[in-house]
Amino acid sequence: MKFLHQNRAFLALLIPFMAIPWIILGDFHLLLFNFSHNRLEMGGFGIEMGTYSLIALLLLLGIGIALISTLTLSRFYCGTLCPNTFFAHLLTLFSRKKKSILSKIGGFTLLTALASMLAFSVVAYGISTNELIDAIAHLTFAGWLVILLSLLMIAEVYMVQGWYCAYLCPYGAMCAILPIEDRLTYRFDDPSSECTECEGCVKICPIPSLDIRQGFDIRCIQCGLCEVACEKTFAKNPNITTLISHDQRSSLRAGGRGKGFMIALIAITLFMFAGVIFLSNSNRLDSCRLENQHLHTNSFKGNQ
Ligand code: SF4
Ligand code: SF4
Repeated sequence: MKFLHQNRAFLALLIPFMAIPWIILGDFHLLLFNFSHNRLEMGGFGIEMGTYSLIALLLLLGIGIALISTLTLSRFYCGTLCPNTFFAHLLTLFSRKKKSILSKIGGFTLLTALASMLAFSVVAYGISTNELIDAIAHLTFAGWLVILLSLLMIAEVYMVQGWYCAYLCPYGAMCAILPIEDRLTYRFDDPSSECTECEGCVKICPIPSLDIRQGFDIRCIQCGLCEVACEKTFAKNPNITTLISHDQRSSLRAGGRGKGFMIALIAITLFMFAGVIFLSNSNRLDSCRLENQHLHTNSFKGNQ
């Protein structure tokens, strides 16, 4: 099925992303920026950190990962890993002209369920899952955050998806500052001038006034909807399949990268590691572990 093929990278990462907040190793989580107990939990260890250090750490990791992704994947991320594109692809299955109102309601329900699960998982990286369920039940801050994130995702997909991708997304802005043309793998190729000018590719494109036939445009999010539209145009033509195609080469290996590029990647990675070490108070790691063992022992005694 084309939908599964188009979104295979997103689906492959979605399951581990949603599972990680539930995994506990001993006293600590596999990965948790634990704001309610002021500590970073990683690989079964806990490191005490203040709230502002945790926020700074999250910002540092977010910017570092976004920079590395911009330099390696560029807009390839938008078309294959971004939840917005996944939701947009999902809605095309339910909202074509001939589909019934029931189908559209089904699409909306599925989107709402997926967006809520994703929002829950995002917030669950900052508070344990049990506490988060409790926060949703009692509508405290973390619970409202899940609701707000879900609503924003749904509203964004239905109302401003392409506009957001082109003009508001911070990741898109980084791609525009560091544009890498060979990362754009959807291309228009029409050496024999077979284009029927049906404009199917332009009409379906979520980005305002983007025409892939005009060549390189960094706003293209690599969603592939134009390829599907063009395939439909030539569905009854035995000689042509599509004029827009996806370059199958590995996006990571495409094009040559100079030494400066590698130095930039290594520098960003080292900077992130240095930031993690600087922000964490590793001397207090043992005391934190002992404290938890102590609590564990006390609660065990209390239960006896
Ligand atoms: S040009 Fe094609 S691949 Fe690029 S954003 Fe528009 S529909 Fe998606
Ligand atoms: S969908 Fe294909 S045939 Fe139609 S305008 Fe676009 S490139 Fe040309």
